[in-house]
Amino acid sequence: MSKQKKRRRSHKRQTVYTLQWPLLLGALVLLLSLVLLAVSVIKACTLPTGEAVTEVQEPILALPTRSPIPVEVDFEKVHSTRIKVFFPDEGEVRDMLLEEYLMGVVAGEMPASYGLEAVKAQAVAARTYSLYAIQKSGCATNPNADICTSSSCCQTYNSDSKQRSKWGDNYPYYHSVIAKAVMDTAGEVMLYDGKVIDAMYHGASGGWTEDSENVYKNAIPYLRSVPSPHEIGSRQTGTVTYGREEFAQRTNNSRPNAQVEADKLEQQLKILSVYPSGRVKELQLGSDIISGNTARKVFGLDSAMFTLELTNTQVIFSTKGFGHGVGMSQAGANGMAADGADYRDILTHYYTGVTIERIGEY
Ligand SMILES: [Zn+2]
Repeated sequence: MSKQKKRRRSHKRQTVYTLQWPLLLGALVLLLSLVLLAVSVIKACTLPTGEAVTEVQEPILALPTRSPIPVEVDFEKVHSTRIKVFFPDEGEVRDMLLEEYLMGVVAGEMPASYGLEAVKAQAVAARTYSLYAIQKSGCATNPNADICTSSSCCQTYNSDSKQRSKWGDNYPYYHSVIAKAVMDTAGEVMLYDGKVIDAMYHGASGGWTEDSENVYKNAIPYLRSVPSPHEIGSRQTGTVTYGREEFAQRTNNSRPNAQVEADKLEQQLKILSVYPSGRVKELQLGSDIISGNTARKVFGLDSAMFTLELTNTQVIFSTKGFGHGVGMSQAGANGMAADGADYRDILTHYYTGVTIERIGEY
């Protein structure tokens, strides 16, 4: 529940005729600082218009600086497959060794503080996703590349210098974790019916992953909803809060048919149906009905697994999980690794019916 705080200006000042100028000046300075303080407090308590506020759970505490894991890194030796990677910031396509590219993807896509088996699972998932992209030929952002480094289109990529600035003193250790995960699984990909799979993955599932057709168009046999009971990681829950007026405005702007009004939300805003996973299937928005996934985009939610709360002044979304919910949950992989699972257990849990095999030349 939100707390309403009414602030009153309680300091009425009386003119002080008898005081000397220095004292009067001092009083003025004091008054000015009180006003400035009040303004900054009010600012801090007010949500910025049009911006969603997301509360993020902090990731697992950074480990103390540790010695690197011994690992021999020789991408040429293990695997010769190459991939054309588009870097939107630089505006260039680079032809890279797949395994070298994967180092940057794994560094960017999963916290290196996660368990080693989870990082290995991530390496195989990212390699599979990349090979699928090569076979599909052409990413949506740049058809001349196999894949790009935009996380909203393909996979994030952290260059070596980005890794160094991100990890600081922990760079040698974290970098060795990524290298070990990539090299230990070199060339390994997931297949279903003998074909490379579309290995989707996401940050956290909120307890259950999602059937692919509930998020995207097609029902894919290996992207089924599975339980993910033990998740350890960041951004597992979140809250997005809007003022009622702000909510109505945002809704009507992106869904003109909705026609919602700030003071009628009790009748106009309702979760109509929920998938067995707990993700919202349909949301009533005035005269419009949208899917939970559309709601995710319209309202900037971490996931489609959300509940709603209306107060006198606000609309509050509380979410569980992070991302689309399809395929491997990274926080779930980390939980499984903590429970003693290896990367193969993790992958075959999240990708139904797949086999893990080596591709390429050795
Ligand atoms: Zn792309």
